[in-house]
Amino acid sequence: MDLAYSQEHEAYRDEVRRFLENNKDKAPGSGSTAQDWQQLLIENGYAARTIPTEYGGAGQEPDILKSHILAEEFAHAKVPPGHSGDNRIVPVLLELGTEEQKQRFIGPTIRGEMQWCQGYSEPGSGSDLASLQTKAHVDGDDFVINGQKIWTSGAKTAHMMFCLVRTEPDAPKHQGISYLLIPMGTPGMDVRPLKQMTGDSFFNEVFFTDCRVPTTEIIGKRGEGWNVANATLKHERGGLGDPNQAESRFRDILELMKTETIDGQRLIDIPSFRDRAMALQARVLAMKFNGMRVLSHTIKGEEPGLPRWIVKLQGCELNHQTAALAIDVMGELGILYDESPYVRNHGMWQHRYMMDLGLIIGGGTAQIQKNIIGERALGLPKEPKFDKPI
Ligand SMILES: Cc1cc2nc3c(=O)[nH]c(=O)nc-3n(C[C@H](O)[C@H](O)[C@H](O)COP(=O)(O)OP(=O)(O)OC[C@H]3O[C@@H](n4cnc5c(N)ncnc54)[C@H](O)[C@@H]3O)c2cc1C
Repeated sequence: MDLAYSQEHEAYRDEVRRFLENNKDKAPGSGSTAQDWQQLLIENGYAARTIPTEYGGAGQEPDILKSHILAEEFAHAKVPPGHSGDNRIVPVLLELGTEEQKQRFIGPTIRGEMQWCQGYSEPGSGSDLASLQTKAHVDGDDFVINGQKIWTSGAKTAHMMFCLVRTEPDAPKHQGISYLLIPMGTPGMDVRPLKQMTGDSFFNEVFFTDCRVPTTEIIGKRGEGWNVANATLKHERGGLGDPNQAESRFRDILELMKTETIDGQRLIDIPSFRDRAMALQARVLAMKFNGMRVLSHTIKGEEPGLPRWIVKLQGCELNHQTAALAIDVMGELGILYDESPYVRNHGMWQHRYMMDLGLIIGGGTAQIQKNIIGERALGLPKEPKFDKPI
């Protein structure tokens, strides 16, 4: 196997490194705002790379290797990478939105001026999402929405929600769903934050009572929202469990273990901790090489299959185990949180430990990922559905 990059791609890597060296100080947290940083990246072709210029993107040709080099170099420099807006809604708008929707939503979204939240899950519909019960009927030129969503991340600060509602109550469950775009703060919409174990309230419940949105605010046709939703989830899962992020976190934990000591001994020199770190390193490397398999299949235009299906499951569990190791090696410092003056890295590891547990569930639970791997990648028999005859 030849893992060398072409001259063109090596030159691109040098160019990205030079850019990062010269502009690192403008990254959010150490200078400018996230929006200014994103704008700088778009102007240099490092963010919204393949989004057409008429929608505010950099308008470059798709090049998977260049995207890969960007992800590697930004992770290595520990600088927030550029994005293409919201990786769930922007690809869907590009693929299935009307021209008017593309013009109205894509530019502000990729510039970071418009935030979105995802109104899918309901109290009785999570893994079995197609059983959702929030309803919408047409009255004049509007959909009128009634029902409840839950676990809606970021709903309190978002400007827009992409939301699944049942518009054809008599159709089979996968066919009666529509995909609506709803401005947050529309009358009849009530957002109630939920307290999480991190202490934040990022999750929300969202209640709809006779909430009206124009019938034009739909993506795809009425009753065909399930296909649109699946397009969104494909992009969301692709983003979770990123091997570059796992590698960058592993480097962070090595740093911690080299600087913290117990009785004068560096944590990295304590055999039981070192042993766990090495076991994790093996898995981080396995994920990195798996990422290369996905990449080389994609370059050849092949469906990666198993290597792709394991990314979300393995990557999210690995991130959680890395945070768990950090907490264990820190001993009593590991149970402190951000209000303590003795807390290390601003409580980042404690926060990640709790948040990463959630990411094993969000975007499709570990058990559902295993079902997908079993059925689609390993060809095992489908699990029986309780609502369908066997
Ligand atoms: C960090 C985070 C962010 C989230 N953000 C959002 C968001 O922005 N918008 C949104 O709409 N939702 C969001 N969610 C909700 C998320 O999509 C659901 O939690 C998830 O789909 C699981 O649904 P549930 O919680 O109802 O659990 P359930 O589906 O009730 O599952 C309960 C348990 O049963 C298992 N289980 C269920 N069915 C099967 C099966 N067929 N085979 C084997 N095991 C099964 C599950 O794996 C789980 O362990 C978020 C969740 C988290 C944790």
